[in-house]
Amino acid sequence: MSSIFSDFFRVTAHGLGRTLLLTLLLVTTQAFLFGQTYDLVLKNGRVIDPANSLDQVMDVAIKDGRIAKVDKAIESGAALKYIDVRGLIVTPGLIDIHTHVFVGGKPDKFADGTFSVSADDFCPRSGVTTVVDAGTSGWKNFEVFKYNVIDRSKTRILAFLNIAGKGMSGDPDQQKIEEMNTEAAVAMAQKYPEWIVGFKIGHYEGSEWSPFDRTIDAGNRTNKPVLVECHLPQYPLAMQLQKMRKGDIITHSFEEITEREPVIDGNGNLRPYVVDANKKGVLFDVGHGGYGFWFSEAIPALREGLEPNTLGTDLHRFSINAGMKSMTNLMSKYLAMGMSLNKVLEKATVNAARAIKRPELGSLSPGNPADIAVFSLYTGDFGFTDAGGNRLKGKQKLETELTIRDGSIIWDLNGRNAKPFLN
Ligand SMILES: [Zn+2]
Repeated sequence: MSSIFSDFFRVTAHGLGRTLLLTLLLVTTQAFLFGQTYDLVLKNGRVIDPANSLDQVMDVAIKDGRIAKVDKAIESGAALKYIDVRGLIVTPGLIDIHTHVFVGGKPDKFADGTFSVSADDFCPRSGVTTVVDAGTSGWKNFEVFKYNVIDRSKTRILAFLNIAGKGMSGDPDQQKIEEMNTEAAVAMAQKYPEWIVGFKIGHYEGSEWSPFDRTIDAGNRTNKPVLVECHLPQYPLAMQLQKMRKGDIITHSFEEITEREPVIDGNGNLRPYVVDANKKGVLFDVGHGGYGFWFSEAIPALREGLEPNTLGTDLHRFSINAGMKSMTNLMSKYLAMGMSLNKVLEKATVNAARAIKRPELGSLSPGNPADIAVFSLYTGDFGFTDAGGNRLKGKQKLETELTIRDGSIIWDLNGRNAKPFLN
């Protein structure tokens, strides 16, 4: 206290000359700080941001973990750090809406998601900054998932909460209808609105429709979407699609070998109820996984006008080393199937953000979290496989150069952010 007063009196006592000097010093300091407005600028990249209809060479500036500016030329001297990304593609960080990443929590011998992989082991290297876990946890163990995994990951992890209390635990309780508690699921979603983006029905083997109906009911009560992952014949596809609402998501859309009817009929046409559901606004997710993606379905579907809305990978232990491999591999596969780069990116960014009602993600709009992916697009002779072991040749392949989450670089393939080694 005394030093503040003594400073004040000293400045006053030294009169006008001293005051002017202090003012000048303050103005100079502010100008210096003002000049360095941004923490990081990505220079000269081909910015593709489908949400903002951008596809041109631009600079992207980041400040305090958020997108600060996207412009044709951000003045030099305006940032603490520059990375030249000339020749590379700069996009919003990718969003994978179908993953299984509940690892490490063991409230009992089942409940750790036996198919799961660690998001941070696979996502940054694929340009993915946000994943949605597809019901690996339920209302009984979501908090274990949150504490052990979500709160400790560099990847942003959101969740579709399983209507079954223990999620996809393998526990026999997973099949018990009394464990499928709408009130408890809704209460958990309301407790964690920042993380729980919707509800999931899947892997129920009985013939009752109440698990399905309760999941939709939870969606209705919270205005959140439902992710449907039902393969078994007790739930005919037509009936599932009829019960689903606008904005609900069906996954494994292009599965062929399944007891559930595929979307394409024996004549290579879309089934009428699939067309109707698409018109109604049901969203079709790829959900590639180990068995969920077949060229024999996906290619005719594209031809007949059923594009996937999102490119969920169904990331888990049995898909990463099979045909799926990674989000960038799935995107490159769609390039090989004839989809444009802009459209592929739209599905992997803004479409996914809209599907989970998180408009602050999936675009490079100023003010949004600075989640960014930077890719090389290589040309050459490549091959892509489906669940049936079929190979499709392709000429383009995406590779992730940089991944940025909330302004922090979490993947840097070629050390673009590192300092030069001098010897
Ligand atoms: Zn899944």
